Amino acid sequence: MPEFPTELAPGQIIIADALMTQPREIIAQAGIAVEHGRIAAVGPAVQLRSRFPGMREQHFSDHILCPGFVNAHTHLELSFLVGKIQGPIAFPDWVLQLIAQMPQPAEAAHVIPDATQRGAAECIRFGVTTVGDITRWPELTRPILAGGPVRVVSFGEITALGKRRHTLQARLDAALTSHAVGEYLSIGLSPHAPYSVEGPALRRIVAVAESRHLPLAMHLAENAEEGEFLATLDGPLGRSWPLMQRLDIIDEQVPRFRGGPIHWGRHYELLLDKRRKTVAGLSPIPVVLAHVNYADDTDLKILAESGASVAWCPRTHAYFDHSRHGEHPWRKMLSRCIPVCLSTDSLASNPDLSLLREARHVLQCHPQTSAVVLMEMITTLPAQALGLSQQVGRLAAGFSADAVLLPLDRSVGTDANAVCRAIVHNAPEPAAVWVMGRRMK
Ligand SMILES: [Zn+2]
Repeated sequence: MPEFPTELAPGQIIIADALMTQPREIIAQAGIAVEHGRIAAVGPAVQLRSRFPGMREQHFSDHILCPGFVNAHTHLELSFLVGKIQGPIAFPDWVLQLIAQMPQPAEAAHVIPDATQRGAAECIRFGVTTVGDITRWPELTRPILAGGPVRVVSFGEITALGKRRHTLQARLDAALTSHAVGEYLSIGLSPHAPYSVEGPALRRIVAVAESRHLPLAMHLAENAEEGEFLATLDGPLGRSWPLMQRLDIIDEQVPRFRGGPIHWGRHYELLLDKRRKTVAGLSPIPVVLAHVNYADDTDLKILAESGASVAWCPRTHAYFDHSRHGEHPWRKMLSRCIPVCLSTDSLASNPDLSLLREARHVLQCHPQTSAVVLMEMITTLPAQALGLSQQVGRLAAGFSADAVLLPLDRSVGTDANAVCRAIVHNAPEPAAVWVMGRRMK
């Protein structure tokens, strides 16, 4: 693990042959001026030099300076499982293998921090400067992540189902642990999934998040069988699952619900209509829904009304072979103004934590896709999903100086479509990465 600088870089100007302030705006011979970790100004090199005379300048030919990438959904602590579970595999079988490989409590104290550090370093390697990180071990992961190098919204994962519902308060308390909160780390809550958190527990978690104005993240509509589980408590995610048989936690108090996981999410107030909330004088908290691989038109209407964002993980979608049930509805979502981000999920189901490779995978499967939109799905849209749209995801005055430097042939020019297409097609590793103005790579 390399040492990361702890001091803020003094004022500096970073110039490249091209600057992407956001995917639709490319400027030639331009850059950013950085002071105290924030972007003081953005623009052509000549303007920055005259406005900040004497400021140290770095110039990078044949490169483009872009906003740092934002991964709205991953599990850094599972990085020790890279390559350990071969796909394609059915989700219930994967969970069984995952649990079999989880460290015992005594081992967890070093396995989990090491894996978290490894995952964070891999984020920097691929230019990911902000992550929404799900953690079952906040007491082990947050102290590690508090010192950087990546900005983290650490979502404490909560399960509360059936005979284990009494553990809800203890899990909430753990997820709310805030002593590591600082410049790199903020916290959120993550009710795990419809087959591990029962409805009343979900409602309580949402209420706690709203009272503290914390973002929420939840795995929702990841699997086609969630509706069957909610309606009957049976099926591959219910009583027929060897995991549920072993745990023996389902009891008659678990409420049954017909209508599928997204209607269930609305019923238990995760996905309320954002206009209703605004009328009630409440400002909506960010809600990130991981996957949403299955959604019909009525589900999409609920999602659009809720203001929630979707973190789609294309290579993990392929790993679990969800396309046997049909394509992911991401284009329908975008056309209904539902924010969709590209995310990686964990190294237990994804080959790496590169968002550009995620985007390249989508472009290879759907060559007609706008590369500008794909770039938005790893910058501006996930920043919005995590509630950080005024801090990261763009290079603009007042934003955090989180930037990546990518090789780009000067001949590509400054047309946004051409530039984004070249970047996504090549998916290069960054030559340099800055977080809050600190050079991390
Ligand atoms: Zn996940």
